[in-house]
Amino acid sequence: MGASLAGRALERGAWSLETVPIREFGEGRHRLVDDTPAGGSPGMVLRADVLARAIDHASPPGDERPRILLSPRGEPLRQPLVRELSAGPGVVLVCGRFEGVDERVIERRSLREVSIGDVVLSGGEIAALVLLDAVVRLLPGVMGNASSGETESFESDLLEHPHYTRPAVWEGLAIPPVLTSGDHGAVERWRRAEAERLTRERRPDLWERASRRR
Ligand code: SAH
Repeated sequence: MGASLAGRALERGAWSLETVPIREFGEGRHRLVDDTPAGGSPGMVLRADVLARAIDHASPPGDERPRILLSPRGEPLRQPLVRELSAGPGVVLVCGRFEGVDERVIERRSLREVSIGDVVLSGGEIAALVLLDAVVRLLPGVMGNASSGETESFESDLLEHPHYTRPAVWEGLAIPPVLTSGDHGAVERWRRAEAERLTRERRPDLWERASRRR
């Protein structure tokens, strides 16, 4: 995230990131952070006491930033949450490892569980980067007007229409004539129809939601 638009915004101070290594709050000389699962099963679990110390360091009482645990069990990450976070005071992201974290720390530190998709990653760090990238690009001045477009995928529960650019003909394929007609109304209608077609075909779940709203 130090590269490109997010990177330049980072240099300008439009956003910042502090990482807190959980091991610094580990137990004993070896700074242990995990232990075997109660009830028995393979793998290791992040200890509640260790993780709580790290969380309390990153986010002391009174901190108004929401605390999110990246977790495959969480609510799916969606654009409305991304918008909410980008308008808020920041966010504290907790990254799991191994089999996951002791359930009690989720409860006691009010961690909101968020998933980036129905896949299992080896750790929460990459999931945290996914969330951060989505939030940072919406911060004022980071993307210029590119992110203000209300036609972007998910902003209206529709997938975005297809894009074309020069050359006008490529490998025998022409740009749809309506896009070069100069008729802005016709362009808008074509884009809308394409967005609806793609959403119906690819994401019946989104289409259902969009239909209910109409
Ligand atoms: N045993 C767990 C998976 C643990 S994966 C289970 O079956 O649910 C280890 C860590 O990676 C998790 O604690 C979480 O922080 C992160 N992680 C894995 N998949 C993720 C996903 N889809 N979204 C967000 N975080 C994820």
